[in-house]
Amino acid sequence: MPRAKTKTRSTSASKPKRSAKTSSSKAKPSKRGSLGPYAAKRDFTQTPEPRGAKRPLGRALRFVVQKHQASHLHYDFRLEADGVLKSWAVPKGPSLNPADRRLAMQVEDHPLDYRDFEGIIPAGNYGAGQVIVWDRGTYRLAEGADPATEIAHGKIKFILHGRKLTGMFTLVRMRPRDGSANAWLLIKDKDAGADPRWNADRHAESVKSGRTLDDLAHSRHAKRWISNRPASR
Ligand code: MN
Repeated sequence: MPRAKTKTRSTSASKPKRSAKTSSSKAKPSKRGSLGPYAAKRDFTQTPEPRGAKRPLGRALRFVVQKHQASHLHYDFRLEADGVLKSWAVPKGPSLNPADRRLAMQVEDHPLDYRDFEGIIPAGNYGAGQVIVWDRGTYRLAEGADPATEIAHGKIKFILHGRKLTGMFTLVRMRPRDGSANAWLLIKDKDAGADPRWNADRHAESVKSGRTLDDLAHSRHAKRWISNRPASR
């Protein structure tokens, strides 16, 4: 890492503060930026999912994979990029087998807060059903300098440091045909994290709570438990 100028200790000076008094704090819709579609699909008086806001990029890039029993079971694969979670719905889930090419449909950006969301989206709401935090951790790019740029160019190669998923993966956009412009493939690269015999179905527990989707669906306390309290960690 290049050294910063000697003794730049003042944290307040290095961080340009948004002036709450002068800037228009009422302009909520424009601040949502790429999160507009996320908010438009949800009624936050009805669903316990986070309202979210776009946040400045931190140092560590986060990822999360949520297992989601909506009308169709799928895994939501999300990478932090440009202050939000770029998101793909992976029907069969991630694989550690480099021979597998898993279809991953890009969906709307989600707020960073969403990485901690586990609970039940009530019936009648967008994506109604159970959600668990199936895996999470950090990642770094294996190519390029900015994840949002890589994604915009249709290919991102990255190294995951999760509890279940580790090592290099590639997400690559398929050639748009048959109107499937959002179709990508999620592929495990060959490295020490690869395992041809690995099966996502045998790793069904949440890394946040240890619960499975079934545990959540049958929990008597689920209603209380999914309250909007912030995550303790
Ligand atoms: Mn989903």
